[in-house]
Parts: sequence; structure tokens; C-alpha cells
Amino acid sequence: MTFKHVRILLLLAVLLAAAGLRAWDRHVVTSWQSPLTVVIFPIRGDDSAEIAKYVQKLDRARFAPVGDFIQQQGARFSGRLFPLPDISLGKEIAELPPARPARQSVSGNMLWSLKLRYYALRQSGFSLRPGVIRIFVIYHQGEEGKALDHSLGIRDGLIGVVHAFGLPKQDAQNNVVMTHELLHTLGATDKYGAQNMPVYPEGFAEVKDSPQYPQRMAEIMAGRIPLSATRARMPSGLEECVIGYKTAYEIHW
Ligand SMILES: [Zn+2]
Repeated sequence: MTFKHVRILLLLAVLLAAAGLRAWDRHVVTSWQSPLTVVIFPIRGDDSAEIAKYVQKLDRARFAPVGDFIQQQGARFSGRLFPLPDISLGKEIAELPPARPARQSVSGNMLWSLKLRYYALRQSGFSLRPGVIRIFVIYHQGEEGKALDHSLGIRDGLIGVVHAFGLPKQDAQNNVVMTHELLHTLGATDKYGAQNMPVYPEGFAEVKDSPQYPQRMAEIMAGRIPLSATRARMPSGLEECVIGYKTAYEIHW
């Protein structure tokens, strides 16, 4: 065997190991046998004293509604009680996650996804424990009308990046965004279309309601409550959200 053969074999072994780890991750999180393990890593989005204070005061109780919501919705669909997700607060991180490429291309996206996975691995001390979902939350100051960068959740590596407002009164809505991205890591897809309007029927909480509008709840992957065919609003918290039938199917309920 030549040196070239050894190199190819080594590369194949690494690729196989990576694919195996990904499959193992997916199996752990969608078999719903053990508690979903989620670690939230806070990151300051700016140098302000307000954000520093907010991040300092964070504790796991702040994210408890996310676990309660997933458990309640799981029981609604399957009729059995899944173990309560274990959502903990990781250490504060100074480094921002790699930014998504501004221009979409297959190679650009692949490289970014690799960088993001490497970043997540590095921040958690290169732990290869399967089925751990890592959510990096970047806290920004709340300004009227200010739009935040897009949050995201990816299945490969079970990673979420959430842009949130560092204000106690925004906690409930931050939990909605966090849950949405967390469900992406489990394989759930978005259920909104043009102008961010929920798609009927899978993006509606009360599919069979008549009249169809206004709805009272949001399907979590649609993200908003449809008020009319052209208007929708953000739910104020997870108490105004449900997991719809298609999302439930996608996450293996
Ligand atoms: Zn989404």
C-alpha cells in the first residue's frame, strides 16, 4: 500500500466516523427515550452594561418553559409522557459563531456548516457525547423596530444560533424563537411562505377552525398567529404556540 492509499483510507475513515456520529446523534434525539439534552451558551451581542447585566443574571429557570412546552406537546400527540428535556445553561462565550455567507452557494454553505460545527465542538471542549443540542444565543439590546439577524437551527451537529433581545420582558418571545430553532435541529421544517405568512394547513394551529381567521395560536414552525389571509402576529410566548401535525411527524412523534 502506498502513502496515497493510506491517505485515502484515512480520509474515508474520518468521513465514515463523521457520518456515523451524525446518525447516532439523530437516533438519540428522535427516539425520545432519554431526556432531550440541550445546552444554552449565552453570548453578548454588544459591549453595553445592560447586556452584560442581563447575561450575568441568566439562569436555567429562564428557559424552563421550553422544556415544559415540548413535554406537553409530546403528550398531546403521543398520549405518553416523554422525559422532561434537560435544558441547562452553559458558560458564557466571547467568540461569535461564524457568520452565514451573504451569498448562497453550495460550497460556501458547506464550508460555513463545517466551520459552525467546529466552532460548536470547540466551545464544548470537544465533547463527542451524542445527542447534545447546543444553542448559541446572542443577546442584543432591544430597540423599537430594530430587526435582528436571522436565527437558525441545523440538524448536522445539532446546533442552533439564536439572536435574542437581552431584556427580561422579551424572555417569553426569546423562548419561542429558541424552541423553533431547537425543533429545526430535530428535523422540523419551516411552515411559513411568502411575506412570512403561515402556510395552510400545516402552519396553522387550528386547522379545522371555521371561520379560518383569526387564529388564536401559532404553529411553532410557522412562527406567527394568522389573523387574516394577509396579517399575522408574533405569539407573546409559548402559551400561544402549539406543535402542528406535520412538525410532530417530522420530529418522529
Ligand atoms: Zn425556521
